[in-house]
Amino acid sequence: MAAQGEKDALRYCAQPPRRIPALAPDLSLPRTRAILLNGAKWMNGTQVRYSFLDGADDGVSKAWLTEVHNGFEEWEGVGIGLTFRAEDNPAEAEIRIAFADDGSWSYVGTDCLHIGAGQATMNFGWDPTSPYGKATVRHEIGHSIGFCHEHQNPFAGIVWDEAALYAYMGGPPNNWPRETTFQNIVRKLSTDEVTGSTWDPTSIMEYGFGPGLIIRPEEYRNGIDSPLQLSDTDKKLVREWYPPLTPHMDTLQPFQSAPLDLGSGQQTDYEVVPEKSQKFQFGTFGDADALMVLFEEDGENLRYLAGEDDSGQNRNGHFEVKLLQGRRYVLRVRMYSTWGSGNASVMYW
Ligand SMILES: [Zn+2]
Repeated sequence: MAAQGEKDALRYCAQPPRRIPALAPDLSLPRTRAILLNGAKWMNGTQVRYSFLDGADDGVSKAWLTEVHNGFEEWEGVGIGLTFRAEDNPAEAEIRIAFADDGSWSYVGTDCLHIGAGQATMNFGWDPTSPYGKATVRHEIGHSIGFCHEHQNPFAGIVWDEAALYAYMGGPPNNWPRETTFQNIVRKLSTDEVTGSTWDPTSIMEYGFGPGLIIRPEEYRNGIDSPLQLSDTDKKLVREWYPPLTPHMDTLQPFQSAPLDLGSGQQTDYEVVPEKSQKFQFGTFGDADALMVLFEEDGENLRYLAGEDDSGQNRNGHFEVKLLQGRRYVLRVRMYSTWGSGNASVMYW
C-alpha cells in the first residue's frame, strides 16, 4: 500500500511470519489445499473482539482509535457473517492492537489465537487518520480476517527487478532486511492459499509501488497506484468466506444424524436445546476434515463452549460437554473437505 504522491517516503505493512500447520506428508493434495485455504478463517458467525493495548497514556489520540473503529465498521458493513466488538479488557479480545513504533502489521485470521495473551496481534506504526493511514487500517483488518498480500498472488505474474526492489526496501523509511522484503513482497503465495485465480491490483491488500520495481506485467513498469479503499473483489471475497447468517436455524435433536452436505469452506449451523441437564457427546462422522464448535447463548452473544478441528487427521472430531436444560446452544460445523464416499454427518447424543 503506498499513497500516490508519497512514493518517496512510503512505509509498508510488514507481516510477521505465518503459522504453517504441521500436516502429514502423505496427506492428499485436495485435503492440504483445503486446510491451507480455510485454516486461518474464522468460524462464520463469530463475534471477533478487539481491544487496544495503548491509549492516551501512551500518546495515542482518540482520533486514532476512532479510525480503527471505523475500519472494523467498514468491513462489517460489507454485509458479512462476522461481527466486531470493541472490548475494554485485552485479555478478552482475540485481536489486540498496539501503536508501537514497529511498523504496521497484523497476524492472519485465527493465527491471532496462537499469540500470547498480553501480546499485540496487530500494530499501527504510523498515523491512521491520513488517507494512507486509513487504507493501512483497512489493510491490517483485512489480514485479521484472513486476507494475504495481493501482490504476492501467484496469478499476478509479477516479475520484480529484484536488485532494485531489495535496494529500495532496504533504504529509508522501511529499512527492511532482505528477508522481510522476500516474505512480504517477492515470495509468491501458493495457489492453494488464494481464493480464485485472478489478481486484483485494486485490492486493499495490494501495495502501491513506484516506477522501476516491476518488470512485468509491462503496464505496471511505471508502478501501481496505492489502493485506498476496499475493492469490489475484496467485498465479494469476504462475503464468500463469511456469508450473512440466515435468521432461521434448524434444531438438532439428540441421536439425529445430520448430513453435512458442504463444499470446501462452507458451514452449517444448528440450534441445540437440551431437554435435560447432562453431559453430551458431539461428533462428526465420515471421511471429512471439519471444524466443529459449540457456542452457548449468553444474552445477545454466543460464547465459545467447546470445539474440535480434526483437519489433516485420520479420525473424526469429538468432544464431550455438559449442557444445561433451558439454555440455548449453537453448533457450527465448517467443512475443509470430504473424500471417499463424500458422506459426512454430525450428531450429538
Ligand atoms: Zn499487509
